[in-house]
Amino acid sequence: MKPDMIFYEPAALNYALGKELREKFSDVPWTPVENHNNIGELRARPNRDFSKMKRHLIIGVRKSLRYTPNRKVSDFLVPYTSSGCSAMCLYCYLVCNYNKCAYMRLFVNREQMMDRLIKTARQSDRELTFEIGSNSDLVLENTVTGNLAWTVERFAEAGRGFITFPTKFHMVEPLLGLAHRKRVIFRMSVNPEEIIRKVELGTSPLGARIKALNLMCDAGYRAGLLIAPVVMGENWRALYDRLITRLADELSPKAKEELFIEIIFMTYSYVHRAINSEAFPNAVRLYDRSLMTGRGRGKYCYRNETRAEGERFLREQLSEKLGNIPIVYVV
Ligand code: SF4
Repeated sequence: MKPDMIFYEPAALNYALGKELREKFSDVPWTPVENHNNIGELRARPNRDFSKMKRHLIIGVRKSLRYTPNRKVSDFLVPYTSSGCSAMCLYCYLVCNYNKCAYMRLFVNREQMMDRLIKTARQSDRELTFEIGSNSDLVLENTVTGNLAWTVERFAEAGRGFITFPTKFHMVEPLLGLAHRKRVIFRMSVNPEEIIRKVELGTSPLGARIKALNLMCDAGYRAGLLIAPVVMGENWRALYDRLITRLADELSPKAKEELFIEIIFMTYSYVHRAINSEAFPNAVRLYDRSLMTGRGRGKYCYRNETRAEGERFLREQLSEKLGNIPIVYVV
């Protein structure tokens, strides 16, 4: 990712990573801001500028380091080195508050975040799993900062338990030769090729994601597969049938042995509808009134019977084509 403009908190330049980024992107304009969380100039921009704003980078210092308990594949969601992302998945749950938190924000105080992580891991009487990628895509971020490679080695050396993160990107090369000591659980998120092309704008193609997952398994990482989010648009059965057939054909035997599967059905919101209709007027419409229902505060999810049908179909296909890979949850 090469940003076209950078907004930064001046305090970020007191950190080694802040200085490094200043040097790396010295040829783009840098604008100081008081708070990375509230940039008036960006908030005031209209929704149709959404994709232009995605090319900006925000650099700051992360203040809140509060962990949130979690019960899916981790014990805690950990605020980590970035938030937001330069891709433009039409359903992205980070697009929570119009122009506040969609673009990529980098936090330069990584040593502080790592110290906290190691301390929490070591103080526990059992091995904990920390989800460090719930606010951004760390494989993508790594291409800008190198933070993920740095994190894997530090945590493997001094931590206890596991770190985990999901991704929709294939750029795993810098992670392959690292001494991860099996303390890292890599989770690749997949969707049918047509959904990636039309909905997950700016992310890696399916074939590249599957290859990256095979490479990570060959490099000895623990690994999972996320089918997420399941988008039940027109033709969904044929699309997911093809996806699972491709997974069966292209995943390596080692990957098939290692993997576990998570399945997450898409949720959508009033905010997404507002932004997408102005920013991407020709894109597919993800809100379908006949299939979706309200779920409080402007959110939508698939109706129970629709979702149940989707789950049944996916479980059948996975069991038929991928055998006994465990499905750890479906939501
Ligand atoms: S890759 Fe992830 S973080 Fe980035 S836009 Fe897509 S869903 Fe959001």
